[in-house]
Amino acid sequence: MTSNAPYPPALDAGLETERLSQTIKDWSIANGLAVRPPPALVGQNQDPEGILAINAPVTLFPSPFPKSCFEEAKAIQTNYNELYARISQDEEFLGRLVQEVAGGDDFIAKLWEIHLKVKEEGYVQNLSLGLFRSDYMVHQDGDHLQIKQVEFNTIASSFGGLSAQTSLLHQHLSKTEYPLLTTPIPPNALNLPPNTSAHSLAAGLRAAYEAYGPSILNHPTCILFIVQEGERNIFDQRHLEYSLQQSSIPVFRLPFSQLLTHTTLSPPPLRQLLYHLPHNPSQIFEVAVTYLRAGYGPNDYPTPTSWLARRRIETSNTIPCPTILTQLAGMKKVQQVLATPPGPSTLAKFIPDEEKSSALWRTFTNIYPLDSSSPAGREARRLATDPKECLKYVMKPQREGGGNNFYKGAIPEQLKKVPEEHWNSFILMELITPPAVQNTILRQGKLEQGGVICELGVYGTCLWDQKTGQVKHNEEAGYLLRTKGDQSEEGGVAAGFGCMDSVALV
Ligand code: ADP
Ligand code: MG
Repeated sequence: MTSNAPYPPALDAGLETERLSQTIKDWSIANGLAVRPPPALVGQNQDPEGILAINAPVTLFPSPFPKSCFEEAKAIQTNYNELYARISQDEEFLGRLVQEVAGGDDFIAKLWEIHLKVKEEGYVQNLSLGLFRSDYMVHQDGDHLQIKQVEFNTIASSFGGLSAQTSLLHQHLSKTEYPLLTTPIPPNALNLPPNTSAHSLAAGLRAAYEAYGPSILNHPTCILFIVQEGERNIFDQRHLEYSLQQSSIPVFRLPFSQLLTHTTLSPPPLRQLLYHLPHNPSQIFEVAVTYLRAGYGPNDYPTPTSWLARRRIETSNTIPCPTILTQLAGMKKVQQVLATPPGPSTLAKFIPDEEKSSALWRTFTNIYPLDSSSPAGREARRLATDPKECLKYVMKPQREGGGNNFYKGAIPEQLKKVPEEHWNSFILMELITPPAVQNTILRQGKLEQGGVICELGVYGTCLWDQKTGQVKHNEEAGYLLRTKGDQSEEGGVAAGFGCMDSVALV
């Protein structure tokens, strides 16, 4: 990089941009940095054979990201894994928070109900697996840069497959294309850290698979991916599957809606989850690990039988990723309670080591409850309904998957529509405003140039025993950088707002 040239460069439309775009388009398809096309692009039912794939949206250049922040986020991940494993074990704590939000949130109430039913039957599997992702934005406080947590994901944490490919794409471009630009960036001028997210997440699944051990019913064992029908982000998941299959672990994909049809339970007290190959039902695999890439939101539960499917997983001997308790540990309400006074003491209950818990505490930003009785809740009600104050906040329900939040002026509007006694099913969070970065996004063949906002996700894998509390596996598992235009409030790639990116450490 010539010393004073701005990075990333703002390219004019022309031959060099065309060349760079073409390389990205071809490399992406050749290496599975791809998604299935949205119906809006190809027309409804225009791909009946399921043969089409398009480029995942991606930045032309890896975005500059502060090295100290990146390293802090990576270093802290195993502490976060431990924290959420401990929260998952604290049924009393989770139950209390569920009661606070359940009045205005049928979905959370229903998840809790299923948990209680399974508890009554008796859980037969004590091992629990988390494939987590902690998301951050950089907060600038004077000269000091500090990562602040956006949210902690405990179910269906996605993009680990595509993220590793995005890092490889940018590494490829830094060797082959950036040195050829009119203002060249020499090879090795960018600090591009390795990203093992796909293999590291697979390693977490493998650890659980191995801990499950052989079938005492003499079936072969497998890992079952529970997916959504018509999933467009399928290649992201496939990268994890291929990694597992490389180490000779049988992996199958089953839409959540078909779980009851193609699985059975062995008789109690064992209750093994048995998967019957749809094309040959007499061939049976015992499901050692059930990895949910579905079931995180109400849309996946259209009928009462959908809840029976979730109950079958929970009640069986399979190791679920995640259990209902771990899914509930990912409620925004949990994040709020950890961050609201007396937050440090709540945190210390789960993580007694002071150094570890203060490192976690530093990554929290202000989050408020919206109840009518606590001082923090009353203050939040004032902030959320004040036309000026509300502009500094985002209001979140207990939902995952993007597109559910209310920003700034939309907060008082939304509160008007909700009975006051249900306001507490939301949390109010201070908006983090990261330093502006310039980049160019390539989305569906079109270039979008301008200010962007970057969100770093760090993956973690954790396997623990719910009964004894013993942690058997606890690893940091690579990263994700998602980038969106600075005019956009939501950042989800799958929801159509953000794009894939990787870090150039500065
Ligand atoms: P979801 O579970 O739907 O992914 P998030 O809490 O991650 O919900 O919010 C979705 C998006 O909204 C984030 O990816 C981020 O772009 C934006 N966002 C959420 N919280 C904040 C915040 N405190 N400050 C700035 N942006 C935020
Ligand atoms: Mg999110």
